[in-house]
Amino acid sequence: MSAATIEGAELVAYDREHLWHPYTSMTHPVSARLVTGAHGVLLRFDDGSRAIDAMASWWAAIHGHGHPVLDAALHDQVDAFSHVMFGGLTHEPAVRLARRLVEITPAGLDRVFLADSGSVSVEVALKIALQHQRGLGRPRRTRMLTVLGGYHGDTFGCMSVCDPVGGMHSMFADVLPPQVFAPRPPALGCAEADIGAWSQAFRAAAGAHADELAGIIVEPLLQGAGGMHAYPARCLRVMREVADELDLVLIYDEIATGFGRTGTLFAADAVSGARPDVMCVGKALTGGYLTLGAVLCTTPVARAVSASDSGVLMHGPTFMGNPLACATALASIDLLLGQDWAAAVARIEGGLRVGLAACADLAGVVDVRVLGAVGIVQLDRAVDVAAATDAGLAHGVWLRPFRDLVYVMPPYVCTPQDVAAICRGVHAAVRASLGAGR
Ligand SMILES: *Cc1c(COP(=O)(O)O)cnc(C)c1O
Repeated sequence: MSAATIEGAELVAYDREHLWHPYTSMTHPVSARLVTGAHGVLLRFDDGSRAIDAMASWWAAIHGHGHPVLDAALHDQVDAFSHVMFGGLTHEPAVRLARRLVEITPAGLDRVFLADSGSVSVEVALKIALQHQRGLGRPRRTRMLTVLGGYHGDTFGCMSVCDPVGGMHSMFADVLPPQVFAPRPPALGCAEADIGAWSQAFRAAAGAHADELAGIIVEPLLQGAGGMHAYPARCLRVMREVADELDLVLIYDEIATGFGRTGTLFAADAVSGARPDVMCVGKALTGGYLTLGAVLCTTPVARAVSASDSGVLMHGPTFMGNPLACATALASIDLLLGQDWAAAVARIEGGLRVGLAACADLAGVVDVRVLGAVGIVQLDRAVDVAAATDAGLAHGVWLRPFRDLVYVMPPYVCTPQDVAAICRGVHAAVRASLGAGR
């Protein structure tokens, strides 16, 4: 055993004893795998093995890892300066990034708040909705309308608009602001009548609470961590209509869907007549390099916020507008827009459709669905995460299933061979989870 291996084992052992990972226990820890490098679509582990990062490290690494353009942008900014406070100071990376975001997001979104993570951007968006109503002299409008099955982050405001069952409402019920939940929109490809029925239910939920509501928050087109549920773009038009009728702030949480993932640059671009008043982006914003979120809003909303009692938007994190993150984000967006990203996403979509089709034949699989560069296999039971992960890795694919879902959202730089390999890994993971062996 080499010294490096012993060191690696010690690191993993210390990690297991002392480090919390997402949604894990300290008393029943699970061993994490030790990554020693990440280049292109591949993760390298301490035992020398490699695996394709089929998760794009949670939707973020759209250009793969260690991209020379992003590396150079980050190095250049480190050489200039790494961070300065954003109170009273500004800098070129923040301004250029804001300008680019205003250019590429739906028309009208022209005011930008640079937050330090996705959850924080959602908190800021919720505050914007509340302050907007206060600015218009309606301080009693404090609740949010959303749909079941959503996921908007882990902080308290975010949790309050997550799905009440899949989220953490039962545990934190006493401390979460009570929001208004409409049914989950019907699945993409549903019958016309389903959209009609859902619209009625959505309108009824809104109408019943009209004078308490400040805004609507949804993940447009695709609900991510709440269950990987794709729904018809037309539902967004209904939300827009309701927002207009009741004077609500319509917030799109595009933290997962932004930057091309579902086939359009933003999910909001998939339908006309349903532009949001506020939009949150994160995850792929920096190409997966650094934590950064952004909230964009329209000028009328910004004016109303500024007319609220405080006269200011009440938020300002220490690391707001971090120059390293902004410079990398700008480079990532320009890299994306400088290539035919839509063709890349469409190629991956085609590859996932072909490659995942075989999963539909496995007993225990209830649904296989693909939207843009997102592929989802849904089982009739909870995934055996350990078995599925091991089986994926045995096929050279890194997967992180949850609940009843084995899903992938690969980096856009995946070749057709990579996508085919990912699909074989998913098939093996599903089989292993269903107890069908490897
Ligand atoms: C990941 C995610 C968030 C939370 O972002 P963090 O950066 O993890 O705080 C919020 N909304 C959606 C839709 C997400 O996918």
